Amino acid sequence: MIDLIKYGFSFEDQQVYDMVYKYSRDELYPLSNKMDKDDWFPEQAFRNMADVGLLGITVPEQYGGPGLSLYAQAFACEAMSVWNHTMAGNYLASDNLCVNNILRNANEHLKQKYLPRLCDGSAIGALGLTEPGAGSDALGSMATTAEREGDFYILNGRKMFITNGPVADVLLVYAKTAPEKGAHGISAFIVEKGFPGFSVAQKLVKMGWRGSETGELVFDNCKVPAENLVGEENNGVEVVMSGLDIERVVLCSHAIGISQRALEITIDYAKQRQQFKKPIAAFQMVQSMLADMYTDLELMRCLTYQLLKEIKDLEQGGGGRGEIHMRSAAAALHAGRACMRILDSGVQIHGGMGFMWDSEINRLYRTGKILEIGAGTNEVRKLIIAGELLK
Ligand SMILES: Cc1cc2nc3c(=O)[nH]c(=O)nc-3n(C[C@H](O)[C@H](O)[C@H](O)COP(=O)(O)OP(=O)(O)OC[C@H]3O[C@@H](n4cnc5c(N)ncnc54)[C@H](O)[C@@H]3O)c2cc1C
Repeated sequence: MIDLIKYGFSFEDQQVYDMVYKYSRDELYPLSNKMDKDDWFPEQAFRNMADVGLLGITVPEQYGGPGLSLYAQAFACEAMSVWNHTMAGNYLASDNLCVNNILRNANEHLKQKYLPRLCDGSAIGALGLTEPGAGSDALGSMATTAEREGDFYILNGRKMFITNGPVADVLLVYAKTAPEKGAHGISAFIVEKGFPGFSVAQKLVKMGWRGSETGELVFDNCKVPAENLVGEENNGVEVVMSGLDIERVVLCSHAIGISQRALEITIDYAKQRQQFKKPIAAFQMVQSMLADMYTDLELMRCLTYQLLKEIKDLEQGGGGRGEIHMRSAAAALHAGRACMRILDSGVQIHGGMGFMWDSEINRLYRTGKILEIGAGTNEVRKLIIAGELLK
């Protein structure tokens, strides 16, 4: 467990962290091995997180949530990532990518309609931005369209690599309403899984983060009520960009939890594993790796916590440009790379055991790579940083 007061956070923040830490250790950790082995998503366990107030954690009481701050979401994600990083990823996809963006951008009617279900566990959320032909250039190359026909928008296209996609009940989806306007012709919509014309093409098989349902989604003349438009027509770019800055910072909390677990189990292993009649922890080259792991984690923690303070009260439509855009990209770039270094050393110290598929360090290692790819790759993060530096 971590002492958040030492980093300038409140007693209430610490309480959230401690509660989620214990809950995740007792309820979610026992599921993690089977989730990885069988690529199994424990749907009921996800929905049960509503019982302890985890779902819709930032949603105000009037819409069914506990109304806590973004800190609570980040610390919940960090604590959960220590014990079951896959569930934490599923949690982020619903609670941050979907719920938080609806909360920040939707009108009163949509908030009343969708948020209570996302808070009480009767609905799982997802966000669909990436497409088969539009990844790093998600906005410019977006091919999914939405045409207005009377009281509906008709969506056509495909979304790729969507976390929770195959199991989501409510999806926040981006589509072009004015393709000729490029990135400034994008709108955001709430799509329910039962809407005609929506289907899941396939569940994708991943090397890590197994037990998270990632899928390709199809919109084939999908009929979406016009009232499900989130924000203004053609203003989706603000929803995306503002949401992405927040997502990148909260994703760092995911990296912290994974890295912390990797360091802890590696220290235990180094103390217990004997070679040359000594614990391998007695060897200075092993100690050097442990010291680097700790330092990488601590820097990640300090930068993430600082960015959390800067991004916590980002105004609606804020971010997506300027200093906060650059700094959140820098935090994510550092967290992804540092996490991979930590996991690499963790596997190294575990030796042959670390190479075994069903060892815990191996499970963490296979997942870690997503932190350099999701929410914009390392290269995209660098493009953002350099773009702002050179303005
Ligand atoms: C497990 C998983 C879960 C995901 N969940 C979601 C989700 O819930 N919702 C969602 O919308 N998306 C999701 N994604 C998509 C993710 O955000 C994209 O995979 C990511 O943005 C990269 O896009 P791409 O895979 O198409 O790679 P590409 O854009 O094809 O990039 C391939 C390579 O080229 C590099 N590259 C591309 N352009 C440039 C450039 N201009 N300069 C230098 N290098 C460049 C990239 O950095 C990368 O190394 C998920 C992805 C994965 C793997």
